[in-house]
Amino acid sequence: MNSTTPRAVGPAENRATGTPPSSSAVVRPPGVARPMATARRAACRANFDGVTEIRAVGFDLDGTLFDHRGAASTAVDAFLSSLGAHPSAAARELWFAAEEAEFERWRSGLITFQEQRRRRLLAVLPQLGVAIDEAPHRLDLLFVDYLSAYRAAWQAFPDVLDVLASLRSKGVRLGILTNGSAEQQWDKLQATGIHESVDVICISEEIGAQKPSREAFETLAQRLEVAPAECLFIGDDPRHDLAGARAAGMHAALIERYREGSGGLAGIVHSALAG
Ligand SMILES: [Mg+2]
Repeated sequence: MNSTTPRAVGPAENRATGTPPSSSAVVRPPGVARPMATARRAACRANFDGVTEIRAVGFDLDGTLFDHRGAASTAVDAFLSSLGAHPSAAARELWFAAEEAEFERWRSGLITFQEQRRRRLLAVLPQLGVAIDEAPHRLDLLFVDYLSAYRAAWQAFPDVLDVLASLRSKGVRLGILTNGSAEQQWDKLQATGIHESVDVICISEEIGAQKPSREAFETLAQRLEVAPAECLFIGDDPRHDLAGARAAGMHAALIERYREGSGGLAGIVHSALAG
């Protein structure tokens, strides 16, 4: 994969600010499991279909636990206003279409992570009548403005921390499997507190495999110390999350955060674990 250079994530570094986390923060290196007493684990197994017991739940991050679209919508409105462009639903759709297309090129190893950012600006801003300097370093500086607004709007979906705490109280092992750059995904996890609510964090850039590959899901199961058949995976992308998890032998459930009338995380988890 041609991307930003992977680097180890140390437990004592806040990657957003470069400062150490507070002494109370428990930041585990990627994939380092939280110890769990065998007896407690066995006693707390959830029953999925009467045959296979679900001992772990894996989650996608963006659009599943983390409200990427909400934060990005807020950010792109502020960013366009700062450039003199009119923020609108059509402008946001243009932004998200470019994001999806260019992010996929990065996932496929065709361009670097920084290049996908530059290409998004080039794909969107001229169409909105914003004149831009196309020199790479100027585009990088411009994208920093968007990122500042994006980061300021970061939040987990409101039901996330309660659902994770409830599952954990039942002894269910919890993990994240997300495609993205290690630096940004760790930053999101720490800013929202999600990193303290799960046992295992697998970021594609760090584990060397991306959803929907079987290897990515098998790595998650291995680090959760369960067989794939004992793991339920929840995500918002039918191809990357559901098809990928099922191909690896996991159970899978779709969450549609942005569809009106769709259920929240608690309902999905409850119905999935209840069989
Ligand atoms: Mg997602």
